[in-house]
Amino acid sequence: PSWFDEIGAQPPIEVFEMNKAFLDDTDPIKVSLGIGAFRTEEGKPWVLPVVKQAEKAIVEDPAMNFEYLPILGLESFTNAATRMLVGADSAAWQEKRAFGVQSISGTGALRIAADFLSTVVPNITKIVYISNPTWENHRLLFLLAGFNEVREYRYWDAQKRGLDLQGLVEDLHAAPERSVVILHACAHNPTGVDPTQEQWKKIVEVVKERKLFPVLDSAYQGFASGDPDADAWAVRYFVSQGVEFVCAQSFAKNFGLYNQRVGNLTVVTNNAATIPNLKSQLTIVVRGNYSNPPAHGARIVSAVLNDPTLTEQWKGHIQTMSGRMKAMRGLLREKLEALKTPGSWKHLTDQIGMFAYTGLTVKQCQFLIDRHHIYLLKSGRINVCGISPKNVDHVSKAIYEAVT
Ligand code: PMP
Repeated sequence: PSWFDEIGAQPPIEVFEMNKAFLDDTDPIKVSLGIGAFRTEEGKPWVLPVVKQAEKAIVEDPAMNFEYLPILGLESFTNAATRMLVGADSAAWQEKRAFGVQSISGTGALRIAADFLSTVVPNITKIVYISNPTWENHRLLFLLAGFNEVREYRYWDAQKRGLDLQGLVEDLHAAPERSVVILHACAHNPTGVDPTQEQWKKIVEVVKERKLFPVLDSAYQGFASGDPDADAWAVRYFVSQGVEFVCAQSFAKNFGLYNQRVGNLTVVTNNAATIPNLKSQLTIVVRGNYSNPPAHGARIVSAVLNDPTLTEQWKGHIQTMSGRMKAMRGLLREKLEALKTPGSWKHLTDQIGMFAYTGLTVKQCQFLIDRHHIYLLKSGRINVCGISPKNVDHVSKAIYEAVT
């Protein structure tokens, strides 16, 4: 007998299972539209040239070593990450009311946030609101951190293939005071639909009125518009309205550092005097989870963001990546329309960022996988980077077949 005899199995994580099925597929026609990683026109991963350059200097530095970082991480990195998010000219930065905690990528930042809210901040309801739909890990992260309940707020209007602002505001309006709300800072995953500036103003209004605590999730800064500053507009609007929040930042996508797990949790407080205590509490959260973060990827991001020339180069890479994503949206739409594929495909180019929410049904998605070796999530979400001029005819014809 074993202690473990009675333990059942959990369902697999869809996106990773899908990626494995793609890798195992031996048909050369296969296309991966599943996992959220940038791909070149040749369908290859891209190491950003500026990242390579910065890494080389780090590795070749004779003073480089593998000593532990401080528990809250590499300060030159957390400062640069925080500044990149809130902006050097924002009140929070100028008044030294914002600071960062290095994390195990964006996921780790969300987990620190969830633990912090669950165990440190007084009188939180332990109810967290997530968008319907959202990145599926939000739910799990907050439940494992001790939240009692996950509630969904309306976000996606399937009919008009856009934001259901009224539903969103109504649902947040009905939330108990001191609940937590997760909001995607930009390039919403999976819908590719962000609120407009006017809509954000309404959202911030209800957050203030209902006394909700915002956890912002910034996994794609730069990927929505191609400009990291423009993509931080919503976050900076929260700052300008004097709303306190935490924001999970991922450097997986915008630096192409996926498996390096580089992230930051930015904390914005209205009272700079609280920072030493907050840092001491966050130190305990991190210490009890993994003690201290890894250095390599953080050193790379720090080197780039603290050097104006390298930062400019990086911004160029962001343009390259977001430009390719925009181009592939346009190309797929054009091909689907040329084939006279039933329905409107305008949403493909209206949506922004890495993901398109196609509106394909579960059955249609399964058909694409089974018949055409095109891998995508059952929600109909596709990573537009998976499309290239070489495979777009195959993909568009397959979608045509799936919907007709
Ligand atoms: N939030 C959202 C909305 C995401 O899409 C992702 C990446 N899939 C993350 C957070 C975190 O990713 P990572 O831990 O790789 O930074």
